[in-house]
Amino acid sequence: MAQPGIPAARGAAAGLQAQNGAASASGSPYTNGPVQNTLMSSQVSSGQGYDSQLPGSYPRPMPAKTLNPFSAQSNFGGSQGSGQTLNRPLVASNPVPPSLHSGPSRMPPPPSQNPTATSMPSGSFLPGTNVPPPPLNWQYNYPSTGPQTNHFPHIAQPSISGNTNLTADHQYVSSGDPALQTSFIKPGSALPLQNPPLPTTFQPGAPPGPPPAAGLPPNRPPPAAGPPPNRGLTSQKTPPRAALPPSFNSAVSHDGITANASNGSMVTHSTYDEIEGGGFLAAPQPANQNPQTSRSVGYAYPSLPPGYQNTALPGAAGMPPPSLNYPSGPQAFTQTPLGANHLTASMSGLSLHPEGLRVVNLLQERNMLPSTPLKPPVPNLHEDIQKLNCNPELFRCTLTSIPQTQALLNKAKLPLGLLLHPFKDLVQLPVVTSSTIVRCRSCRTYINPFVNFLDQRRWKCNLCYRVNDVPEEFMYNPLTRVYGEPHKRPEVQNATIEFMAPSEYMLRPPQPPVYLFVFDVSHNAIETGYLNSVCQSLLDNLDLLPGNTRTKIGFITFDSTIHFYSLQEGLSQPQMLIVSDIDDVFIPMPENLLVNLNESKELVQDLLKTLPQMFTKTLETQSALGPALQAAFKLISPTGGRISVFQTQLPTLGVGALKPREEPNQRSSAKEIHLTPSTDFYKKLALDCSGQQAAVDLFLLSGQYSDLASLGCISRYSAGSVYYYPSYHHQHNPVQVQKLQKELQRYLTRKIGFEAVMRIRCTKGLSIHTFHGNFFVRSTDLLSLPNVNPDAGYAVQMSVEESLTDTQLVSFQSALLYTSSKGERRIRVHTLCLPVVSTLNEVFLGADVQAISGLLANMAVDRSVTASLSDARDALVNAVIDSLSAYRSSVLSSQQPGLMVPFSLRLFPLFVLALLKQKSFQTGTNVRLDERIFAMCQVKNQPLVHLMLTTHPSLYRVDNLSDEGALNINDRTIPQPPILQLSVEKLSRDGAFLMDAGSVLMLWVGKNCAQNFLSQVLGVQNYASIPQTMTELPELDTPESARTVAFISWLREQRPFFPILYVIREESLMKAVFLQNLVEDRTESALSYYEFLLHIQQQVNK
Ligand SMILES: [Zn+2]
Repeated sequence: MAQPGIPAARGAAAGLQAQNGAASASGSPYTNGPVQNTLMSSQVSSGQGYDSQLPGSYPRPMPAKTLNPFSAQSNFGGSQGSGQTLNRPLVASNPVPPSLHSGPSRMPPPPSQNPTATSMPSGSFLPGTNVPPPPLNWQYNYPSTGPQTNHFPHIAQPSISGNTNLTADHQYVSSGDPALQTSFIKPGSALPLQNPPLPTTFQPGAPPGPPPAAGLPPNRPPPAAGPPPNRGLTSQKTPPRAALPPSFNSAVSHDGITANASNGSMVTHSTYDEIEGGGFLAAPQPANQNPQTSRSVGYAYPSLPPGYQNTALPGAAGMPPPSLNYPSGPQAFTQTPLGANHLTASMSGLSLHPEGLRVVNLLQERNMLPSTPLKPPVPNLHEDIQKLNCNPELFRCTLTSIPQTQALLNKAKLPLGLLLHPFKDLVQLPVVTSSTIVRCRSCRTYINPFVNFLDQRRWKCNLCYRVNDVPEEFMYNPLTRVYGEPHKRPEVQNATIEFMAPSEYMLRPPQPPVYLFVFDVSHNAIETGYLNSVCQSLLDNLDLLPGNTRTKIGFITFDSTIHFYSLQEGLSQPQMLIVSDIDDVFIPMPENLLVNLNESKELVQDLLKTLPQMFTKTLETQSALGPALQAAFKLISPTGGRISVFQTQLPTLGVGALKPREEPNQRSSAKEIHLTPSTDFYKKLALDCSGQQAAVDLFLLSGQYSDLASLGCISRYSAGSVYYYPSYHHQHNPVQVQKLQKELQRYLTRKIGFEAVMRIRCTKGLSIHTFHGNFFVRSTDLLSLPNVNPDAGYAVQMSVEESLTDTQLVSFQSALLYTSSKGERRIRVHTLCLPVVSTLNEVFLGADVQAISGLLANMAVDRSVTASLSDARDALVNAVIDSLSAYRSSVLSSQQPGLMVPFSLRLFPLFVLALLKQKSFQTGTNVRLDERIFAMCQVKNQPLVHLMLTTHPSLYRVDNLSDEGALNINDRTIPQPPILQLSVEKLSRDGAFLMDAGSVLMLWVGKNCAQNFLSQVLGVQNYASIPQTMTELPELDTPESARTVAFISWLREQRPFFPILYVIREESLMKAVFLQNLVEDRTESALSYYEFLLHIQQQVNK
């Protein structure tokens, strides 16, 4: 059977079903996966997933548009009367910059709108767009994409390491929260300047960084209007790689350096490349032209005096250690140096997990799911290096052993890439305040634990191998208060660290926090009752919005017209301004619409209390979302900030109006579904927003099809997020109300970074070529993130561009430059170090199956959009077949029967099967189009840990929780029940089972569940009295209740959003969702796990 798509309806499945159940005949002691319906026969077949009968899908009257909705609101509005309907001429006297009066098409193009960039989707370097891969196969050997490789040494910015401004301002603080920061202030600022930096140590060929002119910032970036000073010089070298890729020029010319004059003086757009650095590609330095030479110094470290090697601190783990634990005195240098000899010898590094060397026959041992949460593999590094490594929750690679060459990577047929959660909330985050941020002069890498100190005065970059000077200031260690210990500075002891950025890292004064809310107030919206919830939530959290005295806030509402609210200090009440010209939106009184929150707080509170009542009688059914977004964009453009849009239907008026595209009967037809946007309006506007440092978060609360594929672009390209509440209704769907309320609380109060950019660098030889997530790729590898939030994840794909034969270790570094809500410019840096290996077996042994599955999911979303859903599904299956075939043919010496997999990949088929059954990729008529699109948005935007739980939930039996093996946290005892396979086989009618699917918890209670559980945990007399909708457990004074509540609370604490708990009994509507998540079972349209394994085996052993 040739490469069939795995959908059960196809021929492959039919064939497999014949085998299914014939297990004994084939010699296997295992029976096939049960058909899912064994326990609940009648309920499953129809209406799985959210079906249209769920609460909230209520009939609603569609009133004719006859009345002026505002006729009933004459009591609103300030002294100037009720909502005024404004027409353009009013604006003429307003001091708005001219550009704000024009439609976006007349706006000066923001820097991001370069033709090259806008023509690509942000997943930009889709396999399909660069190199069309064979349709049914993913090849990972993308040809070199020169512009993305970052191994070209970049032009040094003068005086980075030559900084002699020894200011007194060392701070080393223990927490990211300024309020909690403990400062270690260097006593007596005047340290002796022993050795002013010597320009002669700069790279040959590059002009020495001149000592900073007096009065100039030492690290001043190259002048904005011209090329960096030394580009001319470096370009005269013609090293092998110096043939600059075409996009080098375009990157500079498009991204650089435009003062956006029409935008007022506040916004001066220059290139972020210059700020974050590293955007300029320059010729490699001669010293590196002989890699052999260079590396023999860099990697063997033979001449390293013992005093200048990295010394790990006791207790320093991958996570940033509590800084207060740093020893305060000098330390003995007892540690062995980084380097080749200190990799764990051969594979014995895995001896901690002897199982890791096993080969597993999945047909005989298919239940390989561990009973505790799967841990990421530990890279095979010497423990002294590993304990300094980045926490895998923040930074993870699909292969923890990097293949030496692209050929080796191709052989493994596994994707190489990184999964990042760069802005995750951290309990401990070392923050450094120093006037000198030490970075490589060539590639702009931040100094990190994996650089090498050649001696007290020089360090060698672990990404480009350039030898850099240690700046004088760096010689002093603020922790130990000892001079001459650069290798013990916090920057060299923490793989995750945050810097307070000096003014050189700013293009303009840090922007204030700006929050603009845009509310749909059409009849449909009012009918859902959402406005009440949102306004109440805002009132409750107004003082908790991240910000300071500069925080600004504003509100826009819209239906067929657009309504602004003047909140000018001194007004007795908010004043409503109505703009009915939606074809050419203008901003009345722009200065009073986004106001200082502190100064106008009472007016804001007034408005939030009034707003829900203002439109209760509206009969306006139209939705001018596009024009409202244009208005929001114009209003926020001068500062940037966050736009939060609440929409409840398909936009029907003005630009961006959409038409229904979903045909329910064709949901199952993978080819016909509309996964791509029907208009580029939202993407273009998102790019405009991105150019002005504004991100748009979309809250879609709709029972009807709303074309999320089109609407979602507004968030995707502006680095916003999408939230989706299908069938939201304040009465019919209380669970959604609770969910919105909890999620809004998190949304409004969580940390936020403004005007951010992120760059990911990797060791010379590796190349990053595709980015996944919500952002815009501003230049070749600089991600523009107008907002960054702690719940967003990102992924990148990589290739091995140049052989790493002479390299033992490679590193990856992400640097996120952002403005905090307190107005500080900060840089958060994560560095990951991994070993390089030369054999296929080692590559397989180091595979990280969760990271691989997560990256494949991202790639499959792109493939669904550029090709088709079935194509993406085939590619997912082929990823398993190809890698396991490679393992079988190239690693295993004897060809045994069965499905032989390396231990590291024992869950690969299971996770891919789970992906195929995930909402994003499943077939069948269960999934509404918007739900599918939303699931795809989640794949792209979630951190890996959340994506994996959504895809392959954790199942626990909870009616018999005990304290055996329980965790003890702060005097709380938290039971740790084993994780069960996701199969109906594991359920029993006399038990209760909790499924943790990330954003939702489902507690399934069997019909014969013990009375004890019903009364002691659920607080009900008998099964029949379990409420039809039960979303909370009572806190009863029983040990059973305490254990259950403790366990559920503990699960919730691990994630930023509050997962709603559904208690499910036989007749519950949610039961279908619960059953659908039992991914090991067969469903009407998908194979069981065992069937899937047989299919894989057939293909692998062909
Ligand atoms: Zn470097």
